[in-house]
Amino acid sequence: MKYKAMIGLEMHCEISETNTKVFSSAANNYSDTPNTSVRPVDMAFPGTLPVVNKEAVKKALMASIILGCKQPEYMYFERKNYYYPDLPKGFQLTQETPPAPVGLGGKVEFECDGKKKEVRIFNLHLEEDAAKSEHEGRISKIDYNRAGVPLLELVIYPDLNSADEAVAFLEHMLQIYRYAGISEADTRKGQVRCDVNVSIMDENLDSNNPKNWGTKVEIKNVNSLGGVRDAINYEIERQSELKEQGRYEEVEQETRRWDEDTMSTIHMRSKVDAIDYKYFVEPNIPKIKISKEWLEEIKKDIPKLAHERKEEYINKYGISNYDATILIKEKKVADFYEETIKKGADPKSASNWITTNLLGHLGKLEITMDDITLTPTMLADMIKMIEKGDISSKQGKEVFQDILTSGKTPEEVVKEKGLKQMSDSKEIVKIANEVLDENPNTIDQYKKGRTNVVDFLVGQIMKKTKGQANPTIARQTMQEEIEKR
Ligand code: MN
Repeated sequence: MKYKAMIGLEMHCEISETNTKVFSSAANNYSDTPNTSVRPVDMAFPGTLPVVNKEAVKKALMASIILGCKQPEYMYFERKNYYYPDLPKGFQLTQETPPAPVGLGGKVEFECDGKKKEVRIFNLHLEEDAAKSEHEGRISKIDYNRAGVPLLELVIYPDLNSADEAVAFLEHMLQIYRYAGISEADTRKGQVRCDVNVSIMDENLDSNNPKNWGTKVEIKNVNSLGGVRDAINYEIERQSELKEQGRYEEVEQETRRWDEDTMSTIHMRSKVDAIDYKYFVEPNIPKIKISKEWLEEIKKDIPKLAHERKEEYINKYGISNYDATILIKEKKVADFYEETIKKGADPKSASNWITTNLLGHLGKLEITMDDITLTPTMLADMIKMIEKGDISSKQGKEVFQDILTSGKTPEEVVKEKGLKQMSDSKEIVKIANEVLDENPNTIDQYKKGRTNVVDFLVGQIMKKTKGQANPTIARQTMQEEIEKR
């Protein structure tokens, strides 16, 4: 028997592109020295009050608009009460009950393996991140820098049917957040965390009838895309096996966690004793009016998203659909590309250098855009040198390797390596005649119809100039000079 998986996600992403935290004036930069980016309100000192960060609300509303959610007339926060050392207040400020959340409803359309897929949004809400705890043997350390960092949580219905679809969905969402300037969405910095719920059902039964749905198991706090993929695949297999063996009742409604070391999900708590968070409206924050005018303003401020940039590359710059797709995959690459054009490079050459050479090298050296010293100006300068014929495109490849991570400019490298291409035609005419004088027999052969001796003669020019002669000009000149003899 075959099973259909139904997968839902709660995706948390830190809003990294604000200066300060969501309810305090502490810097939104928890990579600093631990416990230095903290204000009394983040530590829940008595008598302190939260002040809502307008920029964070704006970014959250921008996401809500992009995703086609419904924005509330008045937005507010609720307390989710629970005790944990990384939550000094004893509650998290979040948005649970409608119409509190910044976004309700809406859809996300994305592609997986070339096929279009759509998932429905339950809600999008703004909340605060908790502090970060680290356990070393018997010692536990807490860094409150992360406490109060704005967090955007997107909750979707279980419309995903495979691990691949879940990963494609997450990649699509991260791309939106990055392009919209909402978040760096860097999984390596722990900015993205997901709760994944998985259930299976008989493939032949009607999936619209809730009676046919299987028991839902939740996996908490998966913090990488690879982790999401592995956790889902593991859980589908575990549940399918139990069903196969007639032990399906052992699948209980529970919360599990993904364990990287054992590559398996591990039981945390059963949902029967689900926590009651005793939500209530935060009394210290007034309801915030979301006016039509403000929403219009935010709409105008939405930067060009990935698909818009892709269309522009194809229509305005004549880039192929294939290359345009590669260029927009990472925002940093797309930004680099556009900046290179601004610095005067031909859009098609810039695209070729970036998609083949730049990305090829990054892959080979296993480094990222953050690790290179190459700037758009340098790449544009190098492309211009090739266009002018100062260096050949083959020499360009040599220069490129050097300027990628050395911090040197293309001019410096060309000078250092003595790569300057000889394009001065007078100079080449002189050398061509020297070559002909030294090889008089080739002239006779040429006159008798053996025109391929030109290849040999051009080779001699290249030899004399140590490969610096512009090969196109050398060939043309030799052709002209041998005809004159
Ligand atoms: Mn949450």
